[in-house]
Amino acid sequence: MTANHKGVTLVGTPCQIIAAAKMEHYPETLGESPVDFKLGLFCMENFSHSYLKEFLKQNEIEMDDVDQFRVEKGHFWAYLKNGDVFKTPLSKAKACMRKNCQVCVDYTSELADLSVGSVGSAQGWSTLIARTEKGLKALQNAENKGYIETKPLEQSGLKLLENLANKKKKENKGEIRKRESVARPVIYRRYMSDAEFETEVASCQFDDLKSDVIDIGGCVLCGACYYACPENIISIEDRKPQLKGNCPPECNLCYVACPRTYVSQEVLNRDLDQKALGDYLKIVSARATNVEGQDGGVATALLNYILDENVTEEVVVVDKSEENPWKPEAILTSDTEEVKKAAGTKYSACPVFKVLKDNDNKEKEVS
Ligand SMILES: Cc1cc2nc3c(=O)[nH]c(=O)nc-3n(C[C@H](O)[C@H](O)[C@H](O)COP(=O)(O)OP(=O)(O)OC[C@H]3O[C@@H](n4cnc5c(N)ncnc54)[C@H](O)[C@@H]3O)c2cc1C
Ligand code: SF4
Ligand code: SF4
Ligand code: SF4
Repeated sequence: MTANHKGVTLVGTPCQIIAAAKMEHYPETLGESPVDFKLGLFCMENFSHSYLKEFLKQNEIEMDDVDQFRVEKGHFWAYLKNGDVFKTPLSKAKACMRKNCQVCVDYTSELADLSVGSVGSAQGWSTLIARTEKGLKALQNAENKGYIETKPLEQSGLKLLENLANKKKKENKGEIRKRESVARPVIYRRYMSDAEFETEVASCQFDDLKSDVIDIGGCVLCGACYYACPENIISIEDRKPQLKGNCPPECNLCYVACPRTYVSQEVLNRDLDQKALGDYLKIVSARATNVEGQDGGVATALLNYILDENVTEEVVVVDKSEENPWKPEAILTSDTEEVKKAAGTKYSACPVFKVLKDNDNKEKEVS
């Protein structure tokens, strides 16, 4: 990070937010965290971009024909540019779901400063959760300055949200138990302290990351390993991370940073397993006053507030690739027009930390 840099806001799925929380927690090991504000999304599942493309093709739809994707009411929806709507039961689209999502128990980005999702609020509104003082201040200021409007979340909405969050925890803990009965433990859910964490990871290198996370379908494709590698020998395009060189004997940073290796109780308190939505200070329905988005446009409005008020200088958002329709592409920007262009949900994984590392490397080359 450059001197006087006010950090970056990262908008991301719960697994990406866990990676950011780990970076924040181990500055002595991983260096100062690049993420200063964590804007988490709700997330039940994610899909492989190539499998999704193939699935749509089988239904005579090209990715480029699609204006918006939605997952709701037990169905997968593709709203086409010609006005047609493709709707299929979610169970049919599940074949495209990423394997790592089956062992994920965080629905609402429990480690974020602010979390945003659609469930719980009426159409055109988002559900917004403030979890930290920093998040609460941003929510209040964004509302006071007219970026968003809020109203109380209805009890029925809260119940629905809690039920879905509990369902994810319960079903995926079942999957964790199933995988553990036939193979190695799903290590990120193993309860341990920071001291135990340090001992466990002391001699772990990329080969261990590969066998413990990547090869067993645990990788969430966040790019935190790519970001942490001091040797720049990990590659991660739209594929699983791969090693392109030799690791110096003492290094274990990719293993430390990965959200799917161990996560200590000091980072992720296990009490959270018993709380459907994690800890929070405030929960409301909200919508943007002058931008459009997937639901209430709240994520985009908050990011605009964050940039206008210099809460952080830059934000990482996920836009669509120009060349490959609906392929998510992370960008680091301070331009609110780019943030508005990146509104809308892309239901595929994207290595959000890669853009931060590539930017760091570019800055190093210049200086
Ligand atoms: C993979 C995925 C699954 C989701 N599942 C659920 C769910 O089960 N229930 C639910 O209530 N909500 C879910 N959401 C959140 C929901 O789709 C909306 O993102 C959220 O309600 C915010 O809406 P908005 O109008 O405020 O956002 P907008 O103003 O449209 O902004 C959306 C922001 O999301 C970011 N983004 C888009 N795609 C990705 C991605 N793939 N990875 C990281 N960031 C991305 C963009 O950068 C943009 O800034 C999911 C989101 C994703 C990415
Ligand atoms: S692992 Fe899958 S379900 Fe869990 S937060 Fe990440 S993308 Fe969403
Ligand atoms: S050099 Fe370190 S961070 Fe990079 S791949 Fe090897 S062990 Fe991982
Ligand atoms: S292996 Fe790398 S990309 Fe995959 S989850 Fe771990 S840190 Fe993220």
